[in-house]
Amino acid sequence: MVVGGGPVGATLGLMVPGSVVLEMGSFPRDKPCGEGLLPAGVQILERVRVDLAKEGFPALRGVSYRVPGGGAVRAQFEGTCGRGVRRMRLDSLLADRASVVTGCRVLGLRAVPGGVEVQTTQGPVGASAVVATDGAHSVVARQLGWWRPGFGRYGLVGHLRAPGGDGEIEVTILGGQETYRAPVGAEEVLVAVLAGRHALREPASSREDRYRRVLARAHPELAGAELSGRVWGAGPFQWRPATVARGRVFLAGDAAGFVDPLTGDGITAGLQQASVLAGLLADGLKFAAPRYRRWWRSQWRRRQAVGRLARWLCADPERSRRVVATLSRRPQALQRLIALNEGSSGWSQLSPADWMAVLPWGRP
Ligand SMILES: Cc1cc2nc3c(=O)[nH]c(=O)nc-3n(C[C@H](O)[C@H](O)[C@H](O)COP(=O)(O)OP(=O)(O)OC[C@H]3O[C@@H](n4cnc5c(N)ncnc54)[C@H](O)[C@@H]3O)c2cc1C
Repeated sequence: MVVGGGPVGATLGLMVPGSVVLEMGSFPRDKPCGEGLLPAGVQILERVRVDLAKEGFPALRGVSYRVPGGGAVRAQFEGTCGRGVRRMRLDSLLADRASVVTGCRVLGLRAVPGGVEVQTTQGPVGASAVVATDGAHSVVARQLGWWRPGFGRYGLVGHLRAPGGDGEIEVTILGGQETYRAPVGAEEVLVAVLAGRHALREPASSREDRYRRVLARAHPELAGAELSGRVWGAGPFQWRPATVARGRVFLAGDAAGFVDPLTGDGITAGLQQASVLAGLLADGLKFAAPRYRRWWRSQWRRRQAVGRLARWLCADPERSRRVVATLSRRPQALQRLIALNEGSSGWSQLSPADWMAVLPWGRP
């Protein structure tokens, strides 16, 4: 049984034949997100026969990093494109395909002989194993004592009526704050602002005013664009549960930890977890929990390291300018970092020359 019918839970439902996915909400529903799905995530969805290109989700061909007045560097995704995935549409599509049971809130669970009993608003349900994909506030993780409070940065997310642009994710570095822009429809772009809590908390101003102020600095061309919905707040962006698997219960997606979304890998990482779990569960429950924990730890270490490097490079405008300048002469280093970020290559792919370009002792 899967608890939570977001993108990770619904995809797991598609991967594990006969599984039931319980979701407390209903679709379509929105969710604050940067809505950029990396190529590795697109490929996982293709394996469960979800073709995002056919469904009209716009292509993302690469990522660019820009320091206003200090240049830009871009890298193309290799092979498959990423996709701009408006969550209102993506989550509905996946939930629909996986026949997610909506309007069913999970209240808790308890071990019973040979399985798990899941308490829901529609009564108890038995399962041989439970995967909780119920998001960063996971009820299952809390009930098992695995949940830990979050910390870190916060974000503001809005959608604007404007042409999609060049089919790329554009990160604008403002020194301790970044904006993340991605096309999510023919005439709709998403802009997320990521920053420390204090930077996003100006007294006596509305969330929309604060959002507009950063937008005007990063994207003056969008300053007058109409918002197509509300401005969402999100965060804090860092949390990690005490464990992600024991016995018959597993965590995946945001329930299994959350990393600052500057690297835009949240959904992709969750889909990779779903894919690994589906394989382990198919092999039987006996070794699934320790094997999943081991695999998750290495994924977590990589995500943390890339995330920290990215935040450090973006935190100081002078450092960012120097790195953007050196990387623009060696875009393959950025390409390798992007592949590392989505888990399609390892640290060993980065050569000493790549490190020289990434770390700011490279000559400006
Ligand atoms: C500002 C921001 C920008 C981001 N940018 C990106 C990006 O560009 N690219 C990217 O890949 N990721 C990004 N992310 C991360 C991404 O949004 C998450 O990683 C993703 O939503 C995780 O999916 P999920 O299915 O694990 O959880 P969720 O999407 O949170 O889904 C959890 C589901 O569980 C349901 N649920 C919760 N409790 C219960 C219960 N008790 N019973 C039943 N159902 C329950 C909820 O209703 C929900 O539908 C961003 C996040 C933020 C906040």
